[in-house]
Amino acid sequence: MLLAAKGYDVQVFEKQDRVGGRSGQLQLGEFRFDRGATFLMMPQILEQLFADVGRSLQKEVEMKELETLYSLHFGDLAFTPSKDVEATASQIARLFPGDEEGYRRYMAEEDIKFDRIMPLLRRPFQSLKDYLKRDVIRALPYLHATDTVYGRLSRYFKDERLRTSFSFQAKYLGMSPWECPGTFTILSFIEHKFGLFHPIGGVNAVFTAMAKVTTELGGVIHTSCGVKQVLTKNGTAVGVLLANGERIEADHVIVNADFGMAMTTLFEPGLLKKYTPEKLNNKKYSLSTAMLYMGVEGEIDLPHHSVYFANDYRSNVDDMTTHKVLSDDASLYVHNPSVIDPTLAPPGKSSLYALMPVPNLSASLDWEKDREHIQDRMMKLLEGIPALSGLSSRIEESLFFTPLDWQNEQDVYKGATFNLSHNLGQMMTLRPHNRFEEVEGVWLVGGGTHPGSGLPTIIESAQISVRLLEEEDARGSKKQTSRIPQSKVGRTV
Ligand SMILES: Cc1cc2nc3c(=O)[nH]c(=O)nc-3n(C[C@H](O)[C@H](O)[C@H](O)COP(=O)(O)OP(=O)(O)OC[C@H]3O[C@@H](n4cnc5c(N)ncnc54)[C@H](O)[C@@H]3O)c2cc1C
Repeated sequence: MLLAAKGYDVQVFEKQDRVGGRSGQLQLGEFRFDRGATFLMMPQILEQLFADVGRSLQKEVEMKELETLYSLHFGDLAFTPSKDVEATASQIARLFPGDEEGYRRYMAEEDIKFDRIMPLLRRPFQSLKDYLKRDVIRALPYLHATDTVYGRLSRYFKDERLRTSFSFQAKYLGMSPWECPGTFTILSFIEHKFGLFHPIGGVNAVFTAMAKVTTELGGVIHTSCGVKQVLTKNGTAVGVLLANGERIEADHVIVNADFGMAMTTLFEPGLLKKYTPEKLNNKKYSLSTAMLYMGVEGEIDLPHHSVYFANDYRSNVDDMTTHKVLSDDASLYVHNPSVIDPTLAPPGKSSLYALMPVPNLSASLDWEKDREHIQDRMMKLLEGIPALSGLSSRIEESLFFTPLDWQNEQDVYKGATFNLSHNLGQMMTLRPHNRFEEVEGVWLVGGGTHPGSGLPTIIESAQISVRLLEEEDARGSKKQTSRIPQSKVGRTV
């Protein structure tokens, strides 16, 4: 969208038959689902993206704000916070007496932290010099990078369940709150401050709208058209070779494919030195997810989002991240968008999605052999939820999707659905750069580059990469190869 609006000749090659990637749409019979992302945080970032190309997000996609953020279940106790600070504080006073003051302090202090950290997510980190800039110095006292999310939240909340309610968001990065850098307490703050949004039709509707706008701006989107290799000449990208054998020449190649997968499959063997298969294997990756998408007869008495925490949440998290096994007592996320969106299922029916965080494929679990067994375990856990009792007898369509499926069907390296971990050694300058370090003319966007995984951040990665690309074109510093037409406006793929 951004490049097409600037007059670049843009071609998008998408391997799947539709756009959206892990946030795309899944259709099972008459039921439609979001494959991955189920809600939008900070829609202002998307609004800005559409405004930058002269469009309006609201005109392209109908957005519905969720009244309560989510329903968080700890045994029989349900905590349903909203962005209404007074209402949430009085709920905390009732459910977790004494912790309401900590909540107010948390909201006030995180507001300042958010303000200091946001600029760092909007600009590149390409070299160590980037740490010496004024915005880093301003943010430094608020980064809390040597503390953990759980450690930071323990300063505000005494009740373990409340600590969990504000720290489970580390899972959005596929990390343990006991390991995730304290910087990321801003995730729950962002939810509480700005609310959560459901686009009608699902999150995937945003990507369909982006494809439509790109096309209207002159870009061409080729679906069911995979890229086999990034073509290079003297260390500079000159285009792509498609899986169908066609060669496409280009001045710039923007790689949105999953980082690990792109590095291991899209470059000529031996070309990359920093991201060799061995070095990639030694990096840290996020957790994965086991998914159950279900088309269900009848309505379901659950809100848009519910999280059911394991009785011993710490053990459940340690099982996944440290011991790399499945927990008997697992946590579950249940997504029931049909309760507010009638477009996803036929009348009187529901599109239901359940997510169980699980280790990625570096664990020695056999997803092929144990597939049915794990699916049964997940269904048993779901049927233990009062509103879902007898669920299996109401299912008309279903798909169980494992880390192996994420890898084999959606090209996600090690099935690590939230990409490279966001530990200190893999953040900012130490994360793969937006201007790819290894091959000139290649730009990275998506969860594997700065600022990281999640919808607001991948949009920011696009803004950063486009800015860098434009600056480079303005300087005319990219080495030109004789095969590329020296047009004023570059071809990008
Ligand atoms: C289960 C789940 C739930 C989530 N929930 C949320 C949420 O609620 N809110 C939120 O903000 N974030 C959420 N996320 C995170 C968010 O979905 C991701 O951060 C985001 O979708 C990643 O986008 P990406 O562009 O990096 O990767 P992708 O979406 O994977 O895009 C990569 C694209 O490249 C294509 N591709 C790969 N290889 C090739 C090739 N060789 N040739 C051509 N095309 C290729 C793929 O088909 C895909 O379309 C969730 C993720 C998951 C998995």
